[in-house]
Amino acid sequence: MPEGHTIHRAARLQNKRLRGRPVQSESPQGRFASGASLVDGIELAKISANGKHLFYEFANDVIVHVHLGLFGKFRLRSLPTEDPVSENCRWLVTTANDRLHLAGPTACEVVDGEQVDAIRSRLGPDPLVKRHRRDPVETMASRLHRRTIPIGAAILDQKVIAGLGNVYRAEILYRIGLDPFTPAREVDQSKLHALWTESVRLLRLGERSGRIVTTDPADVGRTRRSNIKAQERLYCYKRQGEPCRRCGSIIRTADIDGRNIWWCPAEQS
Ligand SMILES: [Zn+2]
Repeated sequence: MPEGHTIHRAARLQNKRLRGRPVQSESPQGRFASGASLVDGIELAKISANGKHLFYEFANDVIVHVHLGLFGKFRLRSLPTEDPVSENCRWLVTTANDRLHLAGPTACEVVDGEQVDAIRSRLGPDPLVKRHRRDPVETMASRLHRRTIPIGAAILDQKVIAGLGNVYRAEILYRIGLDPFTPAREVDQSKLHALWTESVRLLRLGERSGRIVTTDPADVGRTRRSNIKAQERLYCYKRQGEPCRRCGSIIRTADIDGRNIWWCPAEQS
C-alpha cells in the first residue's frame, strides 16, 4: 500500500501539471462515468492530500475524493503518449498537455464539503500537513491513552497518525528506540514527541525523493545520503535474521494484528 509520502508527492506533481487548467474527464471503465461527467470541461482548481486521501477541487465546486487503497495506481504522462489507456481505467483526466490515468482505487467518488470535513476529522495528524488545529502530539496522546493494543499496531491506525504504512512504522519505531509491543497507553510523552518529529522528518524526505530512506549515512558506511545504496536504505523492514546496522543484534520479525513488524531486540526494549 502506498504510504503518505507517495500521496502528497502525487498531489504536488499533479498540481504542477494539471492545476488551473480545464480538463477532459471520463471513465473508460464506466464505474465513475456519472461523476467524471460532472467535471468534464471544467478547470481543476486544486488537488490536496490528507493522510492517504486525495481531494480534487474543480472550479464548479465539485470535489472528487480518491483513495488508492492496496491496488490503486496513477500514471501521469505528457501528451502525446504511447501509454495505452487500460480497460480498468476508472478516471482519465486530460489537459492540453498531460494525461492522468487512475486505475484500481478503493475510492473515486464525488463528495461535498461536509463529507470532506468528515473524512478529515476522522484522520489523526498528518506529518506532511504544515498547520494543525491542535498540537499533533496532544491529539495522538488523546487517541492512545486508553488503548492497550501494541504501539506498533496503533500507529497504523489512520485515526492516530495519518500516512504511516508498514515500512515507516517499523523504521520510525527503530529510530526512536521503542519496542513495538509496548502497550499504546504506556508510551510516554517524550517518546510520542520523538515519534512525531521523526515522522515529519522522514516523510518529508520521502516526499521529496519519492523513496523511503531512513538510514543515516554513517550507519551504512557512507558519507552522504545520496551515496546510500538501495539495499542500505532501511534499518529493519524485511531484514529479519540480518544483523542490526548499529549494534549487530539479529533483527526480528513477528505478526502484529495481521501485519509483520521488524525490530532490533537490543535497542527497542
Ligand atoms: Zn540494534
